[in-house]
Amino acid sequence: MPEAPTTLVWFKHDLRLADHPALHAAAERGAVVPVFLWTPDEEGRWAPGGAHRWWLHHSLQSLDADLRDRGSRLLLRREPSEAALRDLLDATGADAVYWNRRYEPKLLARDEAILQSLRSDGIEANAFESQILHDPDDVQTTSGGSYHVYTPFWKKLMKRGLDPGPPLPAPALGPEHAPADWPDSLALDDLALLPAARDGVDWAEGLRDAWTPGEAAAHERLQYTLDHVIAPYETDRDRPDRDGTSRLSPRLHHGELSPRQVWAAVSDWADANDAHDAAEPFLQELVWREFSYHMLHHYPNTPTENYKDKFDGFGWEDNPGWLARWQRGQTGYPIVDAGMRQLYETGWMHNRVRMIVGSFLTKDLMIGWWHGADWFWDTLVDGNLASNTMGWQWSAGSGADAQPFFRIFNPVSQGERHDPNGDYVRRWVPELADLPTEHLHAPWNAPDRVLRKAGITLGETYPAPIVDHSEMRDVALAAYDAVR
Ligand SMILES: Cc1cc2nc3c(=O)[nH]c(=O)nc-3n(C[C@H](O)[C@H](O)[C@H](O)COP(=O)(O)OP(=O)(O)OC[C@H]3O[C@@H](n4cnc5c(N)ncnc54)[C@H](O)[C@@H]3O)c2cc1C
Repeated sequence: MPEAPTTLVWFKHDLRLADHPALHAAAERGAVVPVFLWTPDEEGRWAPGGAHRWWLHHSLQSLDADLRDRGSRLLLRREPSEAALRDLLDATGADAVYWNRRYEPKLLARDEAILQSLRSDGIEANAFESQILHDPDDVQTTSGGSYHVYTPFWKKLMKRGLDPGPPLPAPALGPEHAPADWPDSLALDDLALLPAARDGVDWAEGLRDAWTPGEAAAHERLQYTLDHVIAPYETDRDRPDRDGTSRLSPRLHHGELSPRQVWAAVSDWADANDAHDAAEPFLQELVWREFSYHMLHHYPNTPTENYKDKFDGFGWEDNPGWLARWQRGQTGYPIVDAGMRQLYETGWMHNRVRMIVGSFLTKDLMIGWWHGADWFWDTLVDGNLASNTMGWQWSAGSGADAQPFFRIFNPVSQGERHDPNGDYVRRWVPELADLPTEHLHAPWNAPDRVLRKAGITLGETYPAPIVDHSEMRDVALAAYDAVR
């Protein structure tokens, strides 16, 4: 009997076994050789940031353990992608390479070139869909163009039928799926993904406390989301003081869960609980994720260039001192500082607070949005080229379907509205913990005796405001008038 054919499965941002179309197809074909290639040089400017790398280390470890439970393993390589794949094809006698497509423009182009090159040598190369629900080229306006406004994009998907169909089960890998010989692999530590201490501090400690990467933990959080998050999502999603959002973004980013799995789980929950109205706001957020990929695909320069080119002449300034204070949560605006500290410590920040700190950087400090995007890129465990670019251009007003520039968030009233009891600020800015709630979001307005009683000396124990919000609002609006 001829031996079953062997397929390399090239893992990327799909670090899971279930609903993995490439793995599924490979397992149906015969033996499977799972491989992950660490190629930051090929990602160039957008090589993964520090927090992403931390997550990646642990997620790879978890995936390898899951594969080993099934008699398989994850091979790690660090050479250029095509050379590594060809070497593994030779070493294993495999005659096919399967992967799930990534949509970041540079990687899409790289992978397409590899696909054509392998095929031209008679190797079966196939790219499958799983990073997003709908290929960006398949969602078109009636005149055949791309979308740049969310609502018509959402309506188009509704008209087409939103349901992406049932997810695939994890393949039942067994001894028959192992190659005759396992080729060499680097050890995970050889990839050097874990961060060095920063400023003498073990930066990863907060990440370890906050997260458990891996497919099993991702499913636990998905179950938690169904049990506790979806029903009150509409009211709780804007409350950073509550556990009111799914926190699935790093799971989706690293592909421990596919968007189709999340979609299906939430839809099934809605069917079972007759709660489609409650589920819809959450599903709409998943479609924002889709929309961000659609935008990135059709406007591939937007990670570094304003979508609206009138902003090219906008008077954003370089101010390294202010930028550093913003990065480390030392602006003197409590809701901004709370968000920036949550980010630095845990690698994640609540969406409402991302919007507030984004507005603050670009409109109160007048610093270009790309500086914020760079910092997020390095510190977010979900740092994602599509959503990060869209979020920053939205915040700055320079993006498609962006917040109008003249809508400048007031960090005090935003704090009062979205953190009304001050729990979020107290959690992340503990030096303000004893301040009465009525003064918590604007400590500079508190009477001296109240500050004294709370143990606060502005400018010493907590910064005085870095700028005057209302003055900077006028400055920003004048700069906007100049380019409008
Ligand atoms: C300045 C800025 C930068 C951002 N950078 C990123 C980023 O790098 N990576 C990232 O995943 N998201 C980013 N976002 C979007 C959003 O803040 C996060 O997706 C969200 O906070 C993740 O938390 P969650 O999983 O609890 O979201 P939930 O509220 O539970 O939403 C469920 C899922 O929907 C998707 N989603 C929700 N909101 C958005 C949104 N506004 N845009 C795109 N997708 C969304 C996410 O995949 C999320 O996991 C950014 C937003 C802003 C304003």
